[in-house]
Amino acid sequence: MFILIWVAIVPVVILHSMVIASQYKKAIDFELKSGEDYANAISVAFTNFIDRMWYAELSIGLSILENSSHDPAKIKEYLINCADSEPTILGITWANPDGVAVYSNNSGVAGLDSPFWSFYEKIRNGEDKVMSNLFISEVSQNPTFLVARAIRENGVLKGIVTVAINVNELRGIFPPNRVSETSSFGLIDENGMIVYSDSVPDLAYSKRQIKEDGPAWKSLKGEVVKISDYKINDGTKRLMVSVPLSKLKWAAYASIDIDEVIKNPYNEAVSSVVIMIFIILCSFLMALYLIVHILKPVRILEKAANAISRRDYTVRTNFKRKDELGQTGLAFDHMTEHIQELESGRQLFLQTAAHELRNPMTSIKGIASLISRRISEGKPIKDTAELITTLENEVNRLSKLLNMILEAFKLQRDNIEIKANMSPLDINDVVQTVIKPFIMDTSNNRNFILNASQPAIVFGDFDRLADVIRNFIDNAIKYSKDFSEIIINIVIERDDAIISVKDQGMGIPEDQLDKIFSSFYRVKNGSEKDPGGMGLGLYICKDIIIRHGGSIWAENNLDKGSIFYIKLPLYKE
Ligand code: ADP
Repeated sequence: MFILIWVAIVPVVILHSMVIASQYKKAIDFELKSGEDYANAISVAFTNFIDRMWYAELSIGLSILENSSHDPAKIKEYLINCADSEPTILGITWANPDGVAVYSNNSGVAGLDSPFWSFYEKIRNGEDKVMSNLFISEVSQNPTFLVARAIRENGVLKGIVTVAINVNELRGIFPPNRVSETSSFGLIDENGMIVYSDSVPDLAYSKRQIKEDGPAWKSLKGEVVKISDYKINDGTKRLMVSVPLSKLKWAAYASIDIDEVIKNPYNEAVSSVVIMIFIILCSFLMALYLIVHILKPVRILEKAANAISRRDYTVRTNFKRKDELGQTGLAFDHMTEHIQELESGRQLFLQTAAHELRNPMTSIKGIASLISRRISEGKPIKDTAELITTLENEVNRLSKLLNMILEAFKLQRDNIEIKANMSPLDINDVVQTVIKPFIMDTSNNRNFILNASQPAIVFGDFDRLADVIRNFIDNAIKYSKDFSEIIINIVIERDDAIISVKDQGMGIPEDQLDKIFSSFYRVKNGSEKDPGGMGLGLYICKDIIIRHGGSIWAENNLDKGSIFYIKLPLYKE
């Protein structure tokens, strides 16, 4: 049973584990793809922003060139207005072709020979649009980077417009972050410095350098990098995607805590594992139930059947349950009880038969040898005649016994066919016919009284019913003393005729009143002298009465002796 359950459960567990693993993989793949899309969106937004800055710088530069007055105060005011209109701009500077700051919205910058303009050489070498990496502004002391644009006239460098970007204000240029608690994104410059971090916008400058094994390094070289378990400084693992900002040589990244990604599949896995454990437990409990409630009783039945085949009829299942198995056990126990009864009946029969047959045989043998002795002694035949009569009586008794045994066997084989001889008859006639020889036989020494007032017509086999009443009267004589009364009553009660034979004999122990109708059953009465018998008479009577659709029973007389009853349905045309 357990093996069967394992055979069913193991593939389910394997299948289930595969489903859980594939759900994990799906969730991670989905998040890697979504991270890449988001990093690309950041990249596009930032590139657009820088393009916008270069375009603004061009218009600022051209405005300054076209301003004929070159009034520093007016230009400064113009630059202040421009800077104020865009929150990401910290400062705007107009430098001359030598790189010296001439005008600025911020007076501290004017006249500076900017040492930070690493890109200045690029402009001198002919590039128009350049950008710096992240650095700490000397003016504001904040991390910043510069976007600069060369302003040329007929190919001749006239000046450079430079915008310093407030990195803390960059948030507004990016698309809204993904709906997630732990997702973040950012920008990395060419030196591997975090220019902007969505999760920590005011990150200290000293902490902005990314780790040497950081995936963004590869993106700075042009690769799209996707890592599902990147370990960050605090030890947690994040799913990280970084993409190159191809035109600008920077990188954008998007990341999310791996625990958040696998939270849903994890929860699903936990609940399905719990369900699976529950199912497995239920299966085992069911197996246990089956073993205890079905297999065990079946084993008990099997053992009991084996015991019976070894002729041990004492075995019982003793099931206390009410279901089908309980019924089977009950039927089995009844069967064994019956077999046990039959077996003990068989043994009793052999003993009784041997005992009962031995008596007439012994007396026949004795009488026969006496007769032969007398004949050899030449004694007169007159004396021998009495012996011959006794011999005849003993032979009759023997044949009666044998007939009864044969009849009982016939009954047990269910072969008696009485229906063919059935006809409507008056039970009074049956009783009269039976009682007559008993009354005439003076050796009976019994006072017979018959009470019958009206006809009692039943449908039956005259001879068989006569056998029953004869057996009752025989027993009444057998189990009572000389000169006692035997009363036979015939009464009508509603639709039945009830015939009873009452004696004043030894009576029957109350607990054996039913048993005396079983085959070979004889009351064991140690105190009284046993008149002998086979215990078959009442068994045969019961069978005959049942075949007539009637009932048979015995009661003890209140004063003394017993009453035997038969009840037969009255004949209706
Ligand atoms: P048996 O040949 O032994 O009489 P029966 O089947 O006629 O067989 O009777 C079964 C047993 O019932 C008898 O052995 C006897 O113990 C008891 N029995 C029958 N009739 C009477 C009776 N009238 N009084 C007392 N006991 C009786």
